[in-house]
Amino acid sequence: MGILLARNRTELRKLADSLFATLEGASVTQTLGFVPTMGALHEGHATLIRKSARENAITVVSIFVNPRQFGANEDLAKYPRTLDEDLDLCEKAGAHLVFAPTVDDIYPHDFRTQVSVSQMDSVLCGAFRPGHFNGVCTVVMLLLNLIRPQRAYFGLKDFQQYSILARMMSDLEHPATIIGVPTVRDSHGLALSSRNRFLDEHALQTSLKIPRALSAAAELYLRGEQRSSELIHEAKKYLTNDLGFELQYCELRDASMLQNVEFQIETDAVLAVAAFVTGADGVKTRLIDNIFLTRDLDHREALLTLIESASRQEDIG
Ligand code: AMP
Repeated sequence: MGILLARNRTELRKLADSLFATLEGASVTQTLGFVPTMGALHEGHATLIRKSARENAITVVSIFVNPRQFGANEDLAKYPRTLDEDLDLCEKAGAHLVFAPTVDDIYPHDFRTQVSVSQMDSVLCGAFRPGHFNGVCTVVMLLLNLIRPQRAYFGLKDFQQYSILARMMSDLEHPATIIGVPTVRDSHGLALSSRNRFLDEHALQTSLKIPRALSAAAELYLRGEQRSSELIHEAKKYLTNDLGFELQYCELRDASMLQNVEFQIETDAVLAVAAFVTGADGVKTRLIDNIFLTRDLDHREALLTLIESASRQEDIG
């Protein structure tokens, strides 16, 4: 059986029910994993889907470019849409069903509700993208209610999104377990993103400042540095503004509530960066990235991989 595609809520329910019916000895222990996306899928998304496919009987991927999370001057219209290739990637990664609804199906004309997570949504990206996380929370809550998964998978590349959604699900006692998946990077350390396809050769080179900065701060942290001023200072050495690069923020925040780490890291923290990169073709792209600074050995590997790929980058450059 090929991958199933549902274009609206009614098809989703029908296909999800029929999928469960085909499971041999279907029982309450058979779980459903859910991977929400905006499409233009790449290896980062594939990693989330493969993890879900390993951990659940059924994996559902949603592909929905959510207008409510784009600001008036943002790239909603030009956000890449590649459904045929996306279906192929989902199938190869082990998904069973793709939910790719229309905007009208998700937001009928009488839709009035908005979900928001206060304070955490007004720092980092939220300070520059007002309303963005309300849009994210609202659509994710709706998708969770439609798909009813036991597990939902999100990338730690969008760390603020992950922590806000974790807070939302915990505050509202949503029964699904949220799972954060470490950032997938290219061989130079650049975090994979659907927006990377807008980068020309020049912008690609410039964008490598970001993994280089995060890697330098990660190395310092692994050598025992805990002071936020020192860690931020180290990263900013690499984030100098020039014609092709404009730093929006570089901040150290505690990993659970995203509060400012004023003096030194006490618990897990995240060093997060957002910047605009402009190519020789004049195309300006906003990129975000972060590293998770933690004593948790499970996440050490991600730090070491980043450091290794950034040093490979220096060898080449
Ligand atoms: P998006 O389509 O950009 O909304 O992303 C859908 C999901 O994939 C989100 O949970 C992202 O955090 C995750 N994701 C995107 N890029 C990466 C990456 N490079 N590594 C890991 N997860 C990612």
